[in-house]
Amino acid sequence: SQNERDSLFIVLNYAKDYFQETLKKTDEGRSIGLSYFKERGFNEKTIDKFDLGYSVDKWDAFSKAAKSKAYSEDVLEKAGLIIKKEDKKYDRFRGRVIFPIHSISGKVIAFGARTLKKDAKPKYLNSPETEVYHKSEILYGIHQAKQSIKQLDNCYLVEGYTDVISLHQSDISNVVASSGTSLTDDQIKLVHRFTKNITVLFDGDPAGLKASLRGIDMILQAGMNVRVVIFPEGEDPDSYSRKLGTSDFKKFLEENTKDVISFKAALLAKEAARDPLKKAESIKEIVGSIAKMPDPIVRSVYVKETSNKMGIEESVLFSELNKILIGDR
Ligand code: ATP
Ligand code: MN
Ligand code: MN
Ligand code: MN
Repeated sequence: SQNERDSLFIVLNYAKDYFQETLKKTDEGRSIGLSYFKERGFNEKTIDKFDLGYSVDKWDAFSKAAKSKAYSEDVLEKAGLIIKKEDKKYDRFRGRVIFPIHSISGKVIAFGARTLKKDAKPKYLNSPETEVYHKSEILYGIHQAKQSIKQLDNCYLVEGYTDVISLHQSDISNVVASSGTSLTDDQIKLVHRFTKNITVLFDGDPAGLKASLRGIDMILQAGMNVRVVIFPEGEDPDSYSRKLGTSDFKKFLEENTKDVISFKAALLAKEAARDPLKKAESIKEIVGSIAKMPDPIVRSVYVKETSNKMGIEESVLFSELNKILIGDR
């Protein structure tokens, strides 16, 4: 009910304030949480912009504080802030830095929380699904990004919280993260409210590549334009933007943004070199992506481009395309 949703918003906002205060005003918060963020290169302005926080390493520090403010255990549990197991209750987030997740309008709806211990599992612990948090419908950073997505008519899509934050600090604010889950149609629709253009910046590792390939076809299917930037192996947008610094990073993005055909062609070119069978496979892969595009005019533009890039007759590509379209639709 709306009443119940409102009470969750209130307690989530209280928790956000509490974690923020802990980060800035307690010894543990400052010496562990704040110094962690500083080491990652986040400045005060960035820390405030994203409402970053810290949860102390105790079982019930947050619950105690919340109960002293008369929040009920029931609402704390429904908000995903405490866990009840048999007769035991404890805080969900303990000894972690906190990344509040905001709705489009800027209300706190959930938290992501990173451990600071090497090899502790999970690295990121997130709020569960609640009445106000449906993770498949939201993108991290959308509240802070929406204005600039609209203005620049493009949205960068990254994997993680820290990628979003580092890009903001590098003066790029049209960026959102899928936060490790595979991209959904609802998330694509959310971006579509502000722009038709997405540039995918996924991690330079096999998982990142796989996720970007799947994401690309979903974006095309939604009738949007997609471009891609491949990062060097072992780098993600966060690490690489810090390595290069703002102006070189921006230059890197400009010089390495590929349209979807060039991206797939480059990706498959390695395998396809001198092997005609592999080349045929690559072309089928590319035509497969073109088939996902709902607009026939857009499809024919991409066929022309593929024809030029790969040196294949347009008519051959069209007949390949039609086979898929007739089969699928
Ligand atoms: P960091 O730089 O802090 O190590 P990252 O953001 O680069 O983290 P990745 O391993 O690249 O982390 O994962 C990308 C995103 O996936 C994370 O930001 C987080 O949203 C999500 N994620 C990663 N590991 C987990 C996990 N164990 N459980 C839930 N979500 C996770
Ligand atoms: Mn990764
Ligand atoms: Mn990272
Ligand atoms: Mn990463």
